Amino acid sequence: MTELIVCTPRGFTYRRIFDCAWCERRTRHVVVDYLWYGPEVECGGCGHRWSDGYRRRQTNKQRALNRHSFHKRWAAAQTPAAHRAWMHAELDYMGVSA
Ligand SMILES: [Zn+2]
Repeated sequence: MTELIVCTPRGFTYRRIFDCAWCERRTRHVVVDYLWYGPEVECGGCGHRWSDGYRRRQTNKQRALNRHSFHKRWAAAQTPAAHRAWMHAELDYMGVSA
């Protein structure tokens, strides 16, 4: 019997307000950050999502759905201060000094 083990990185979801690269407005964003991978970002203004700087292919309908449910992800996301604490804890765990 063959077993397949898929290791997914642990991410940390937090919220930030900054200028969106796609709609060029200062909007709310939900960010899922990983220690060794590029972040996944979602704009609450235009509904675009991108991973490690690359925009995901999404239809207008998908972006509209993203915008519609964004407030739930925003409310569940952690603060930027909690993100910094998580990052330092992860680096300490890995034995890497920040
Ligand atoms: Zn945007």
